[in-house]
Parts: sequence; C-alpha cells; structure tokens
Amino acid sequence: MCPVCASPMMIVELQGVEVDHCPACRGTWFDSGELELVAEIAGIEPERLRGVLLPEPGARAGTRRCPRCGRRMQPATVGPREPVHIDRCPDGDGVWLDAGELASVVRNYHEGDLGKLAEFFGDMFRSELEHGR
Ligand SMILES: [Zn+2]
Ligand SMILES: [Zn+2]
Repeated sequence: MCPVCASPMMIVELQGVEVDHCPACRGTWFDSGELELVAEIAGIEPERLRGVLLPEPGARAGTRRCPRCGRRMQPATVGPREPVHIDRCPDGDGVWLDAGELASVVRNYHEGDLGKLAEFFGDMFRSELEHGR
C-alpha cells in the first residue's frame, strides 16, 4: 500500500529493476539496493548514494510509514545541488521518492553530461510507467 495516499501500488520495471509505484500520487518505493542499482544504470557511482540511503540512528521519525515493516520513516534531505526530500525506513528496508524526485536525485549526483542524462532518465521513467499499466 502507498505510504502517502494508501492506494494499492503496482510493480513497474525501471531499467530492468522492479520497483513499487503508486499510480495515484506517482511516488515510488525502492527496496534496499534497488535505488543504487537504478542509480548505477543512470551513471551515478553507488558509493555516492550510500550515506544518503542508510538510516541514521536516533533520527526523528516522520509521518509516513514504511510499506514493508509499517514503522514510521525518517525524512532525509539528499543532494548538494538541489535538495530532495526523501523518506527512508529506519530498518533499512528501502526509500520512498515522491513523483519527480528520482530525476532530482539523478541530477544531484551524476557528474559529467548532467542535463542530457537527467532528461533521458526522466523520459525513460515516464515511458516505463506507461508500459506498466
Ligand atoms: Zn500514493
Ligand atoms: Zn521498513
């Protein structure tokens, strides 16, 4: 179930990785390791995302609940360039990205031909979602 709007989520394939996506609010849940996989395909070194995705002991809990274990997720801010507000499970089950946040994360961490890649990646995501219906 979607942690934001409680709609049933569907599985979509994103660059060969299966993720849970909410068709109502367009948020996406990445199980542990899946976002790193997708990021790697997008040209981001997984090392760079690791600190972002690991839960901080003692960090405050948010209001959204992890779709896997039901615990309240921790809000986290990602990215030196444009801050993205993500939610992550305190047990490390995974991370939740609202609509558009994946492209922002990619823009934050990709080095090199940033604009082109971010655009490409954003378009891929949209077309994958349409095929998944
Ligand atoms: Zn939703
Ligand atoms: Zn969890």
